[in-house]
Amino acid sequence: MTRWRYASATDTGVVRQANQDAIYVDDSLAIVADGMGGHAAGEVASAMSIDVVSRAFKTNPTLEGLESAIERANFDVLADAKANPSRFGMGTTVIAVALVVEGDQRVATLFHVGDSRAYQIRDGAIRQLSEDHSVAEEWVRMGKITSQEAAVHPKRHQLTRAIGVEDRLNIDVLSLSLQPGDRVLLCSDGLSNEVTDDQIAKTVSGGDNLSEIVRSLVAQANENGGRDNISAVLLEFDEVTASTQPVKKTRTSIAAPAKEGTKKPVTSQRRRRALWSFGWRVYAFIGSGIAVVVGFFAILHWYAYSTYYVGDDNGIVAVFQGSPGGVAMYHPIKVLDTTFPMNELLFGDSLLVQHGIVEPSLEAALNKANYLHNSFLLSHPTTTTTTTTTTVKAKA
Ligand code: MN
Repeated sequence: MTRWRYASATDTGVVRQANQDAIYVDDSLAIVADGMGGHAAGEVASAMSIDVVSRAFKTNPTLEGLESAIERANFDVLADAKANPSRFGMGTTVIAVALVVEGDQRVATLFHVGDSRAYQIRDGAIRQLSEDHSVAEEWVRMGKITSQEAAVHPKRHQLTRAIGVEDRLNIDVLSLSLQPGDRVLLCSDGLSNEVTDDQIAKTVSGGDNLSEIVRSLVAQANENGGRDNISAVLLEFDEVTASTQPVKKTRTSIAAPAKEGTKKPVTSQRRRRALWSFGWRVYAFIGSGIAVVVGFFAILHWYAYSTYYVGDDNGIVAVFQGSPGGVAMYHPIKVLDTTFPMNELLFGDSLLVQHGIVEPSLEAALNKANYLHNSFLLSHPTTTTTTTTTTVKAKA
């Protein structure tokens, strides 16, 4: 059996007006969600995701069950934003540790989308278990910038993955390798941006009172500025069972989850007959007319914004959402500028970028931009100053 004891805290911080973070913890599930989006929308996205995931896990406490629960949360947040234009663009991170059923055991598994973090603390040492899905951290993993540069990079808050952005969702899933006495901290970036890893390690290792520890973490974040909402869920593992089939994977969902328990509207026989005799042809005609118009615009909107492309933003390589040139009245939206000027691309590539290179996701578009810039750097070793090309030059 795997068992934990826990404590948690969430706080608005010093600067923000509202707390858009949401947390959940019980004997088998712990979640931190950091919501984003204007005027109250972030709260809706984080609270809705936690509600969906925690309830679904009670009925299906398996690895598969929790993956589908997170997908369900993604669809529900997307649907709610579509139905309520004031919440357009809302989203949330989700990081969760669940004791999932494996045979007759329960094993600790991490599920993660976004830039909230999970840390493992053992004997005073700290290890980050999750990778941040942000533009800056993707660049660190590509060797483009250092982690010190990422910590102050303007793109450090730009997420490459979140709940509520698109139908397609990549979820990182990781079996935890634990010993009794290990502590695992889930936190929002309002904590990890204000308190250093060393300080977190020191605080989490200090003493037996978990509630006191999470209160101290929140207090330190506030003392250091408290510029964002701060959330922490701390778990201490008392008993541990290792998974016999440990996983470390990224699950990609593309299809909508099956609708469960859709109730048919109850209509009395008499009423149904009355409607029928009123002229079903008229209803059918009007109904299909409306369906065609609504369907047309829904498909057009989806089609217009379903892809990303790498394009030219006044001499800077940039990533846009939409199709090059736009679709009908839907113009592409610039998501971000990269750090590469257009003249640091191979000639042929720069022509392609000027027309727009279409990719299925923001991550893919970002990878493409990096790939094109790297191709240029490798063929122009003398004109750049990056360390990558210095190495190439030395070898040549
Ligand atoms: Mn935050």
